[in-house]
Amino acid sequence: MAWRCSGATNTELITNLFKNGLIKDARVKEAMLKVDRAHYAPSSAYEDSPQYIGHAATISAPHMHASAAESLLPHLAPGSHVLDIGSGSGYLTAVLAHLVGPSGSVIGIDHIQPLVDLADANMRKSESGREMLASGQVKFVKGDGRLGWKEGAPYDAIHVGAAAAEHHEVLVEQLKAPGRLFVPVDERGQQYIFVIDKKGDGRVVRERLFAVSYVPLTDAPGA
Ligand code: SAH
Repeated sequence: MAWRCSGATNTELITNLFKNGLIKDARVKEAMLKVDRAHYAPSSAYEDSPQYIGHAATISAPHMHASAAESLLPHLAPGSHVLDIGSGSGYLTAVLAHLVGPSGSVIGIDHIQPLVDLADANMRKSESGREMLASGQVKFVKGDGRLGWKEGAPYDAIHVGAAAAEHHEVLVEQLKAPGRLFVPVDERGQQYIFVIDKKGDGRVVRERLFAVSYVPLTDAPGA
């Protein structure tokens, strides 16, 4: 599948992913066209595969980023407020920021300071990224994402880009009602994507989707 969805440019990559049904939604396609993956992936940026970014972290494959954004899409309206846990390269944070627009905001959190700095530096490679950082539409912070980020709560949507060892209830607490959490969770050695909805009346509905392979959501090195 990967070979079919590579491209010589960002536009080619995203167009091919759309043609092959790996990006389904036009809004997500538009947002991904606006973020040059070469600013975030150190090599083979226009291939549909994950790449190592240092510090035991990887930038996820673009089809996974598309799938995450599409799962959260009903909660990514213009003006929405989003938390991206395990922001790593900052790529998805940037895509989410385009989806919520200038009246919305996205906080990217990672527990490794050099990755917080890397995400910030990656975003500064484009004019739109510099503007989003200057206006506060995007902010990168250092912290343990298993605790969410209380300072910015509540959120319309929370994305978790690393596999949790358990269901962290505090993340659900930090959702608005309605709000949605996208999180990979390890169940007896197999990771699954969970989409957890907090309904308008506060009811919580948990749905297990497909099996995945993510970097674990862990203690910070040396912690
Ligand atoms: N969405 C990112 C994924 C990076 S890999 C991207 O595509 O670039 C997962 C990230 O989760 C790594 O950057 C890692 O440092 C971070 N991470 C792991 N455990 C964490 C924790 N407890 N708190 C915050 N970030 C964590």
